[in-house]
Amino acid sequence: MNKFAKEIEAYVLKSYLEFGDAHSGKILAKLFQHGLDKKNIKDIMPEIEKKIKEISKLSKKEQEQQFEILKDLVKEQEEKEKTLPEIDVSSLKKVVTRLAPEPSKYNHLGHAMSFLLNYIYTKKYKGKCLLRFEDTNPEKVSQEYVDAMLQDVINYLDIKVDSIKYVSDDMSLFYNYAEELIKKDKAYICFCNRDKVQELRHKGKECECRNKDIKNNLEEWKKLLDGEYKEGTATLRIKGDMKNKNHVMRDSVIFRIINKKHYRHGTKYKVWPMYDFYNAIEDSIMGVTLILRSNEFDLRSELQDHIKDLLGLEKQLIVQYGRFNVLDFTTKGREIRDLVESKTLIGWDDPRLITLRALKRRGITKETIYELINQIGLVKHPVNLDFNMIASINRKIIDPKVDRYSFIQDQIELEIKNQPKIKEINYPIHPDKKETRKVKVENLFISSEDFKNLKGKEIRLLHLFNINLDKKSEFTSLEIKNIPKINWVSKGLKTKILMPDGKWVEGISEESIKNLKIDDLIQFERFGFVRLDRINKSVYEFWFTHK
Ligand SMILES: [Zn+2]
Repeated sequence: MNKFAKEIEAYVLKSYLEFGDAHSGKILAKLFQHGLDKKNIKDIMPEIEKKIKEISKLSKKEQEQQFEILKDLVKEQEEKEKTLPEIDVSSLKKVVTRLAPEPSKYNHLGHAMSFLLNYIYTKKYKGKCLLRFEDTNPEKVSQEYVDAMLQDVINYLDIKVDSIKYVSDDMSLFYNYAEELIKKDKAYICFCNRDKVQELRHKGKECECRNKDIKNNLEEWKKLLDGEYKEGTATLRIKGDMKNKNHVMRDSVIFRIINKKHYRHGTKYKVWPMYDFYNAIEDSIMGVTLILRSNEFDLRSELQDHIKDLLGLEKQLIVQYGRFNVLDFTTKGREIRDLVESKTLIGWDDPRLITLRALKRRGITKETIYELINQIGLVKHPVNLDFNMIASINRKIIDPKVDRYSFIQDQIELEIKNQPKIKEINYPIHPDKKETRKVKVENLFISSEDFKNLKGKEIRLLHLFNINLDKKSEFTSLEIKNIPKINWVSKGLKTKILMPDGKWVEGISEESIKNLKIDDLIQFERFGFVRLDRINKSVYEFWFTHK
């Protein structure tokens, strides 16, 4: 018997009692919350199908009786509010985490998830959260990206960091540590070209540079720092083990020459440290104790620990989680940059992107991103994120809060025979709320699509009255009946809405939108949620959030 037998039975019974049948795929999905591993799917599916067959033969009464015994198994799991699991931090004096972005891109949802995981655990254990810009590649980093990070991640997600530092400010410290490694005969200057280094690493063979003595290496290191070598002609490599199965351990390069102006230090430095080297040092000297990171860094940990051992630096508690993959959108920085430059995209906040600034401009609240983390949890397998997940959470959060308005696309004016003389009505702001707003009734417009679909029928103009809709419409009654209800606009204001495909739709909105402020979220009834972006020459421009 498999260890999920009881759970399977409970879910199949529940499904039969609720829907009169059960689907193995849906039952399977439930088992993941009970800890089912993906690799066991193959074994578990026949079990589920067998159980469905068994239970389908039971009478409803028998199903009810059995479910009565097992129901707690289901209920508990489904109704439990999702929060992140505890981490055992008892070995740590204090929880200190860090957010360590390289300022070489605009951050997208996947990055945000990683930052937030660290931040949320810091809050949970009342620790400190440090922000560290890993800016030691002058070819890629810039102030533009530092600013974007502060705006998109720190401000938007409301992350309160205890301090901010720039790794490039520690260059002399890195040089000292490098010298220490050379003096310990644990690092050497290598003059081999990139191809040769790669080939020898692949073969697990050492190059001749590895055998030079300490004195020679120290002299060469000085020359490197003094700029006597050209880019690509020399590197500092750490002595590892050229036969190690983990190729990262095969004498990785820890410093290389880059002759490019740095956004923060100009041309002061020519030799720049590589990721594993500065990372190992910074985590220790900053007093970081807890690191949550995706398991794609797994292989690098060995090298970083090796560096820490050689330099007598503290290690951290590392908690790994599955990588976040973002679906449906391109997240490749270079690709996006090209599309922005060629004006195919509006910018880094284009609604076709899943950068944080795009999400923000569309009206995705920060609470949604936090809730997304709670729902996903700390899982070891890769997680696919798509916009639908965000939209469904965001909708639940904003729907009760935001007012509803009318927007009409491609408006046509109604001509109504016997139109009652109503000058103004009290229009409900939301079906679940009592408040209303005053809406003037003069010339009436509806969307040409509603006209096309409902022509010849009796319809209700929402909260107003009923008409027989036609080229010449006719008033029928005031009573609320079970007939199609459509939005209308009187005294409309010109409105444009930027859709997720980058195209604009145009129409008119009711006059009340003039009371909105920029950034306000509203729902255009029967159209979707939108965020007011700007008022451009008296045209109201919104960005579409989601349905
Ligand atoms: Zn070499």
